[in-house]
Amino acid sequence: MVSFLRIFSLRNLLVLSLALNVSLIWRVLYGKDSEAINGPSLDNKRKALRTDSMASEAQATQTTHLYMPSSSSSSSSVDSNSRDRVINLDHGDPTVYERYWKQTGDKSTILIPGWQSMSYFSDAGNLCWFLEPEFAKEIIRLHKIVGNAVTEDRYIVVGTGSTQLYQAVLYALSPPDAAEPLSVVSAAPYYSSYPLITDCLKSGLYKWAGDALSFNKEGPYIELVTSPNNPDGHARQSVVNKSGGILVHDLAYYWPQYSPIAAAADHDIMLFTVSKSTGHAGMRIGWALVKDEEVAKKMVKYVELNTIGVSKDSQLRAAKVLQVATDGCKYPTSKEGSLFDFAASIMEERWNLLRAAVRQSGLFTLPDFPPELCRFLNSSFAPRPAFAWLKCEAPIEDCEAFLRSNNILTRGGKHFGVGPQYVRISMLDRDENYDVFVERLSTIHRRQSMQVDETAE
Ligand code: PMP
Repeated sequence: MVSFLRIFSLRNLLVLSLALNVSLIWRVLYGKDSEAINGPSLDNKRKALRTDSMASEAQATQTTHLYMPSSSSSSSSVDSNSRDRVINLDHGDPTVYERYWKQTGDKSTILIPGWQSMSYFSDAGNLCWFLEPEFAKEIIRLHKIVGNAVTEDRYIVVGTGSTQLYQAVLYALSPPDAAEPLSVVSAAPYYSSYPLITDCLKSGLYKWAGDALSFNKEGPYIELVTSPNNPDGHARQSVVNKSGGILVHDLAYYWPQYSPIAAAADHDIMLFTVSKSTGHAGMRIGWALVKDEEVAKKMVKYVELNTIGVSKDSQLRAAKVLQVATDGCKYPTSKEGSLFDFAASIMEERWNLLRAAVRQSGLFTLPDFPPELCRFLNSSFAPRPAFAWLKCEAPIEDCEAFLRSNNILTRGGKHFGVGPQYVRISMLDRDENYDVFVERLSTIHRRQSMQVDETAE
């Protein structure tokens, strides 16, 4: 029996390898012809777009930052096998950044010997005693070079992702002995996790109170200002104009690949994360820049009660990637160039492809953004958000269900406090998924009419 299985699996392997080789030879011999039949491939559309955008950027400004060509685009063309594959763009998983970090090789690699990172403490004398000094130093360097946030006269509090810092902020700002929970609001469409995280433990300290635009309760409250906003990408300011409010600025996306950096943000409480800046969501590292010492102390207390600090290994790794990101900006002649130039050119390319697909389909609309001067990239451009906030036009009523029926998974408007005609789509997935997505979106009207014809037959 065992020898039969061995022979059987060996034979299977041989057949499989033969089939793969034949298909490879077939692709090499006949791959070129598919363009004549199907029109220009996405690779070629990418190349054309890239040349256009590079030319216009070169005219607009003499930027000192390097442009990074896309190294894996040659393997990302949409083949027929991909056509019906389920494309999941529900989560904002930033895998698009893998390509950049692969190129940096040893520069972004750290080695942690077995004896290192053993103590609970990182910097016992610091208000945030579990903050690795090396990481703190690199946070300041990066903000200084990008110019997106003021770091002077601030306490840095590190968290297990900015998700933990969000909870730490709620804990820190809520009076411990108030008669009722503190209201937490944000203007719709708001980040879908805010209500879920706020109410998950049914805290007596704070409570989700919904859309800030319709909030009219007297008394203290917290307003979350997410800028650029998740899901719609717009730059934001507070909308509740009452006394007794405390603002928390979630600046996860205030980086030059997504938004022009017009000025350094200078708010009392600002949240950042490596998940969206460098793309290292799996490290689970975020940081808060906090003006008020008592608020910072209470946030530190929360992290202490919740997880007794934050992984040192992750902080050391985060310090390394921030260092490489900053060095790439400072010394643009280095081989890899700057992370932000790489990411900015990909985001621009992806938004151009998406807008072209939306135009071709005639079924959807996207938000428009006015261009603004970016003081970091030294050029004027419109925001290119990490999510596309797509609206299905009538007669489609439920956009999420409509796209799901075309094997595209997105997150529907109701999660963000608005109607089902909207969906949020991640723009940060790998090329092979993004390419299939835009291709499918651009031909969706044809697929729909084919389905109608088939049912009529
Ligand atoms: N804030 C916003 C606006 C986000 O979009 C996200 C990630 N989706 C977070 C916070 C959480 O980031 P982290 O991975 O650092 O917990």
